[in-house]
Formats: sequence, C-alpha cells, structure tokens
Amino acid sequence: MRNIFFSKTICSVTLVTALLGANFLGTCAAGGDKSAEAEIPAYSGSPSIELNDNKPEFSKSEITKVSFESYGELDDLGRCTPAIASISTDLMPTKDRESISMVKPSGWNQEKYPGLIDSDPPFLYNRCHMIGFQLTGENANEQNLITGTRYMNVEGMLPYENEVADYIRNTGNHVMYRVTPVFEGKNLLCDGVQIEALSVEDNGKGVSFNVFCYNVQPGIIIDYSDGANKLDKNYKADQSEKADEKAESDKADAAKNKSQNGKMSFSMDEFAKGSDSQDGSDDVTRSAPEQTYSYIGNRNSHVFHYPDCDSVNDMKEKNKVYFEDATRDEVMEQGFRPCQRCKP
Ligand SMILES: [Zn+2]
Repeated sequence: MRNIFFSKTICSVTLVTALLGANFLGTCAAGGDKSAEAEIPAYSGSPSIELNDNKPEFSKSEITKVSFESYGELDDLGRCTPAIASISTDLMPTKDRESISMVKPSGWNQEKYPGLIDSDPPFLYNRCHMIGFQLTGENANEQNLITGTRYMNVEGMLPYENEVADYIRNTGNHVMYRVTPVFEGKNLLCDGVQIEALSVEDNGKGVSFNVFCYNVQPGIIIDYSDGANKLDKNYKADQSEKADEKAESDKADAAKNKSQNGKMSFSMDEFAKGSDSQDGSDDVTRSAPEQTYSYIGNRNSHVFHYPDCDSVNDMKEKNKVYFEDATRDEVMEQGFRPCQRCKP
C-alpha cells in the first residue's frame, strides 16, 4: 500500500529533475503526474518554491483524522524514503529533544564555513528531521533524518513546519503531512525535499501547501553524489542578501549585548539535557562564550524571550525553558516563536 501511494509523488518530482538534466529514475512508472513539471526551476535565490500550484497531492484514501506517522525504509544506498503522517497534538512531543548525533545520514560530509553560515559552530550540514521534531517528536530515527544544509533546514523547511505546528496547537485539528526527499540517480545527498501539508477537519482551509525546499547553501559548491563541498570563490552575496546578513548580525549583536547586560544568574540544569541536541551542532561541544546567546522559553505557549522581558517575570518557574547557549535559529528549530514584546 505504501509503495503505491508514495510512487505518485516520487514520479512527479523525478520527472521534473529529469527535465533539468538529472537521471531519470528507473523506478518511476510511465505516465506519472506531470503537473509539477514546469514548476521546479533551478535554484535561483529563493529557499523554496511551490509545486503543483501549491496544492498538496494526497489521495482521498490517504487523508485521515486518525493520527499516525510512517517513515519509509532506507533504500539500498542507505537513503531516506518518504515519510507521511496525520499529525495532531497527540503526536507532538512532550519531552525535550534527545541527542541525534549517532545518526549519520547518507551524504554526511561535514564541514565548517565560518563567516558564511550563521550558526555556532558554522556547520554546513544539519541532521535534518524530515518530519520536524516539533511535529512528531522523533529523535534519533534514521528513517527520518537526512543530510540537509543549514540553509535548507532553517530558511527552507522550518517556516513550513512552524506554520503546521502553530495551526495544530491552535485548533487541535489534524494535518496530513508528507516529506519526500528527492535524490538524483545514485546521489547520496538529496537535491531537496518536497513538503506537502493539508489540514483535515477544515479541508485545507487552515493549512494547504505543496513546496520544494532546495538543499543548497549560498556560497558553497556541493557535490551531490557524496555530499563533498567547497567554498565558491566566485560567490558574492547580492545587495539584498548582504543587507539581510547585516540585519541578522546586528540582531545577534543586540542579543549578545542584551544577554550580557541582562540578569543572567538563572540556573541551567533544567535545560542541560537539551544543550547537545541542536541539529548539526552536536558533534562538537558548543562552548565559545563570546558566541552564546540566552533566551527563556515558555513550555506551554512555545514563545521565547530575552531573559529581561517583562513576560518572563509573569511566567511560572515550572514553565520556563532555559536556552543557555542556543542561537535564535536553534531555539526556533525546537518549535519556539519569538515574543512580540521583546522581539528576541
Ligand atoms: Zn518577551
């Protein structure tokens, strides 16, 4: 059954990559869905694009209000295959993330690029959850972890995941969710992932999308056969990207100053368990004090703040989650949203 309902998606994306000069996968049946063909251009600056006019392609028989999650077996090359779920609050995690650093997904060829990648350490690759931890609480499940660039993880996939998580928390409804990694030929690193989502109880009114997130990193040249990578010496960020980077680093500086000046004498033991659990940063102890940031999140609302925000004073101690040395991105990867008041 699973093979049947996954094959359609794989075909439509494979047809697209075939048009872009990729190898056509032998597994794809003739007459696959061509609707997405014209819609996957080569990466051109946007972390994700819409497929099939942004309409998800779940069949009627796949759509269900009964929560479930299913992760495909790794293929012969050790690569992930599609994961599908009907997600509601009952599948969402109630515990902090555990370490996933023992998993080495296909194409894992880790390098650091200081100055280009805005995380600490500046790792190119993250162990990317296909179905995000905040949605189904999967930790070191090798059938749900792919090698993905920091850029794909944070700029590409995370906003969609957050949209789905917010909707489920606000409504208690179900969302059909499917993530399909797209590999070209025998490549070990995927070109990107297709994410489809459809809210069930309201028939897509709340959430409905079908997107492709590119597994690229601006400024880095990647060999998708094995994940090898090198600096693109010709790379020059265009003006808007530079402006964004400037804004980001200003924000980071502000956060740094703020946390250094703020009241920082809170206890860290509560969040100690989670401190090694950020994607990609888990092979190295993250300890450089001048590059650390501090936030406090609310376990229930999943909003995070600067420690000196007034909202933190109103928070019950048992609801506080301390982020000792997580970056803003990493806090958001764990399913937290920035406070509207202190705007961390
Ligand atoms: Zn706040």
